[in-house]
This record gives sequence, structure tokens and C-alpha cells, in this order.
Amino acid sequence: MNKPWIDKIRKIKPYVPGEQPDIGDIIKLNTNESPYPPSPMVKNIIDEYDADKLRLYPSFKCDELKTVLSEIHNVNKNNIFLGNGSDEVIALCFQTFFNSDKPLFFPDITYSFYDVWCDLYNIQYKRIKVDDSFKIVKEDYFGENGGIVIANPNAPTGRYMSLEEIEEIINRNLDVIVVIDEAYIDFGGESAVSLLDKYDNLAVVRTFSKSRALAGIRVGYVMCCEELAGYLEAVKNSFNSYTLNSLSQAIAVASVKDNCYFENCRNKIINTREKTILELSKLGFQTIPSMANFIFTTNPSIKASFIFEELKKVNIFVRYFDKPRIDEYLRITIGTDDEMEKLVSAIKKIIL
Ligand code: PMP
Repeated sequence: MNKPWIDKIRKIKPYVPGEQPDIGDIIKLNTNESPYPPSPMVKNIIDEYDADKLRLYPSFKCDELKTVLSEIHNVNKNNIFLGNGSDEVIALCFQTFFNSDKPLFFPDITYSFYDVWCDLYNIQYKRIKVDDSFKIVKEDYFGENGGIVIANPNAPTGRYMSLEEIEEIINRNLDVIVVIDEAYIDFGGESAVSLLDKYDNLAVVRTFSKSRALAGIRVGYVMCCEELAGYLEAVKNSFNSYTLNSLSQAIAVASVKDNCYFENCRNKIINTREKTILELSKLGFQTIPSMANFIFTTNPSIKASFIFEELKKVNIFVRYFDKPRIDEYLRITIGTDDEMEKLVSAIKKIIL
């Protein structure tokens, strides 16, 4: 059929998330979700939620959620900007902060959504090579640029960069905005939130999807100086004022209030991570040191793509990226102890 409109259509190659298979009995270690349920207080909120409230638009100030977050992070409510998952808030940061004719800098191996947002918003970018052990080299970020985004810990490697190094990057780039994506910081490492008092060019992004086991409610936030938060609000309010629905707000508040449960789950995940690294090393795997709820691992004797496909056949889903420099690695989300034991024994059967 003739399509006279085709040249006027905006075409883009989208980000492809990990599979969400629609089958029951699987071990799902492919999208860095929590293996544990959210806090029992979340269940109470859902059970007792008054559906009549859904007639009304949600609070667009998100005051209660900002209050509890400001308490745990020791920042002012005006320093918090909330959105539908950190994907949405990072996309808004790109749109709002990166309007330069110089390129945005980010590592060549990192969250693969960053270049998609650059394409979406016509932002020039330069991928800066991480070294052979996947470390981000801070000096490589001292050159002229239009902004910087760094995931810390990085994904999919799990590598963490020290707060001192992060600070040096921020300090050497006072003329641009530096976004630190801390989706995984609760599993190790020090947050850059403590630097917010010192630097107004810093934006720190967090999510409820990983350590709070709430990927399904889509809540993420940025902490930054009040002025930057104001610019983000203005851009957001220019396409949708009510991004965060009422039920998600109530659930997120309940989760933040249950700190004890949160600490318990993340400690279990950290312990399981270290045990899994050890077990895999006995099978010849080499794993990048991880401060996240996943590991990035390779076995020099067996192709990663083969292990990936074989695991799928026994309903164990991990993540494989068919990309230069990382196509011999598997990214494996940390599940429960039981799930990781099943993973290790499935791998044993595949490789031995
Ligand atoms: N940043 C990084 C580094 C991630 O891996 C992810 C998860 N895909 C996100 C941000 C987005 O997470 P969410 O939108 O669920 O908050």
C-alpha cells in the first residue's frame, strides 16, 4: 500500500528490556527484580485502599511521599522530584539538562537506555571506554562535554566507583549537570546524596524497583538542588502533571516506613550474591566484583550464549547481551538462596 505519510513519521530504535515470560514455573534472574515480596505493610495498604479515592486525580505534589523520602535521605522536600520509575525521571533529566552542542559523556558499557534517550531527544553523545576490567576511568570525564551520566554501581557490570572519584568528576565539571544513576546503590557503596549540599550541578537518581521490590508500581525519583528540581517539574508539567498514581504513592510511602524489612531483604541479597560468586568460581567462572543485586560473569571455556540458551530450556532466565566487549558474559540477577542453588546445579549439568 502507498504510504504518503511515511517520511513524516518519527522512527526510533527503542530500548529492549529483559523478557517477562508469561509462563508459570520459571526462575527469573533476568531483570534485576527483587526475589522477595515488598514489605507486608504494602499488602496492608492495598487491602485497605479505598477505591472511591480513585475518582480523583492523584496529588501532584506527592507531599507524603516526599516527606518520608526527605527524612531517610536527609534532604529537603524541595530537593526531590518524583516520577514513574527511574526510567521516566532519567528521561526527563536528559530532556531538561542536556541541551548542549557538546556531547553527553557516558561509559561505553552501561545502561543501554542512555543512548536511546539521546536519540529520542537529539542529544549528541560520546561513549567513553571503560578499561579492560570494566572500570570507569575518572580522568576520561575531565574533557569538555555537554553533561555526564554515570550509573553507580554500573550496569550490567555491577562495578562500583568510589564516592571520592564520583566527587572529582562532579567537581571537574561544574559547568554541566552530572547525573548519577543509583538504581543499585542500596546493595553496596556510598550514595552521592551526601554531596548535594556542595554541588548544585549534581542530580542523584533512585528507584523503588530493585531494593524495595516494587518494580510493578513504577516509582523513581531524583534528588538535586531546588532550582534543578523546578526545571524538571516544569518540563514534566508540560506533558503530564499527574504522572504518579495515587495507589503507587500510598504503596511507596508504606515501603519507606518499613525500614527494618528493607534492611533485612537487602542484606539477604548481598549474602546470596557473595555465596553465588564463590560457587560459580568453583566452576571456573570469573565474576566482576559486584555492588549490585546482580553479577556479571564469564567462563573462559564455554560460550556465554550457549549457557544462556541452555538455561532457558530448563526455565531459568538470565540476561545475555550480544554486544562488543561483553558478549562472553552473562548478567545474573540475585534470587533467593534456593533459586541460586538451582541455577548453579543447572549450570553444572550444562558445562560438566
Ligand atoms: N537505571 C539502571 C542502571 C537500571 O538498570 C534500570 C533498570 N532497568 C533503571 C535505571 C530503571 O529502573 P526503573 O525504571 O524500574 O526505576
